[in-house]
Amino acid sequence: MVSSLPLKPLLPGTLVQGQPATLGVMGGGQLGRMWAQAAQRMGYATAVLDPDAQSPAGLISHHAITTTYDDPAGLAQLAQLSHAITTEFENVPAAALEQLARQRPVAPTAASVAVAQDRIEEKAHFQRCLDAKGVPVKVAPYASIQNTEDLQAVPLGLFPGILKTARMGYDGKGQVRVANPAELQAAWAQLKHVPCVLEQLLPLVAECSVLVARGADGNCVHFPVQRNLHRNGILAMTEIYPGNVPADLAQQAVAATRHIAQGLNYVGVLCVEFFVLDAASPQAQGLGRLVVNEMAPRPHNSGHYTLDACDQSQFDLQVRTMAGLPLTVPRLHSAAIMLNLLGDLWLAHAGMPPWDAVLALPGTHLHLYGKTQARAGRKMGHLNITSATPQEARAVALQVSALLGLPLDFDVDSKPL
Ligand code: ATP
Ligand code: MG
Repeated sequence: MVSSLPLKPLLPGTLVQGQPATLGVMGGGQLGRMWAQAAQRMGYATAVLDPDAQSPAGLISHHAITTTYDDPAGLAQLAQLSHAITTEFENVPAAALEQLARQRPVAPTAASVAVAQDRIEEKAHFQRCLDAKGVPVKVAPYASIQNTEDLQAVPLGLFPGILKTARMGYDGKGQVRVANPAELQAAWAQLKHVPCVLEQLLPLVAECSVLVARGADGNCVHFPVQRNLHRNGILAMTEIYPGNVPADLAQQAVAATRHIAQGLNYVGVLCVEFFVLDAASPQAQGLGRLVVNEMAPRPHNSGHYTLDACDQSQFDLQVRTMAGLPLTVPRLHSAAIMLNLLGDLWLAHAGMPPWDAVLALPGTHLHLYGKTQARAGRKMGHLNITSATPQEARAVALQVSALLGLPLDFDVDSKPL
């Protein structure tokens, strides 16, 4: 696929054919909002396309286009207003990105996003480029299920497993745990017989992710490895400090992520998620301790700490990649913990979580996304805690959790590795 990126950088604060240099985004959620804030800080105007007239990014942008993602007139307007375009979510229709790319530079490309939209293609891409580069990181054993023959042919060794829809899953939605073939059959019916993958349930001791930013010139920089803790399938907390993940695994995860980006000729910010397996388990003997799970072709919730703990945030680098600006290696200057703030918190505190008490604690940075309707599980904001040491960051995180009533139990144990 031909890269549609500018040969010349789009310099911020300039006029392009009489119009202020403007960057556009498909999707107006919190990721689009934080991207727009980074772009505006640098001097760009921003344009957002989202069906919701009150979208978090639309509310703060110079231009908000309120149409569906496949509306030709809305897309034409976005292309007319913006000199370069990105996306804040992976389920954007590939045809929409292709239409935009006929008129403007689009990063990441429709082809890269298409791989991330489909777990079957994504796993095949991971295994192909990691094997080719001799990186000893594998995907979880899996079978793809597209028809009843596939269902019947599933090897018993995949049980117990997790059935996941091949497309459109997020925050653990579209997933069912199954213990045997009968449960698998019922779960596939529950998921309406859409294409799925059955993955072997692995003995996780931790989860981590790596963010890279790659420019059109192939220059690729990465952030430190993030350790992620989920609750009910939704990211609850990310911890970042040297040693959060054993050094050999961290190195492997970074190498794997860089190869995955390179293999797509990727331009933009890319996040790859990994599992760390129990070293004593038979699965770790067969697969190795690090298993690659999935990727997001955009900034990621686990990278929100970069806003306060790094000299460049993931959103700054997203802006640089799409505008063809140089990338510098981001530097972590503080130990950090990110706590996700879900709607449950608003429901538990009658709409008024005690932010004044939280912000009285050292190194706390509150980010709210401008969403007025709190719902259980809805991402309303996050709190970054930065400190000189991981111990201090943890101590503040415990105080914040007590003030907000955040539970300290996670899907996978949080003890040090
Ligand atoms: P995201 O919100 O990251 O997009 P998702 O819905 O796309 O999530 P996954 O990341 O594949 O789904 O899975 C969600 C969580 O379920 C993982 O973070 C992990 O805790 C658990 N999980 C997924 N696959 C496996 C597996 N094969 N073995 C054990 N646990 C798993
Ligand atoms: Mg995930």
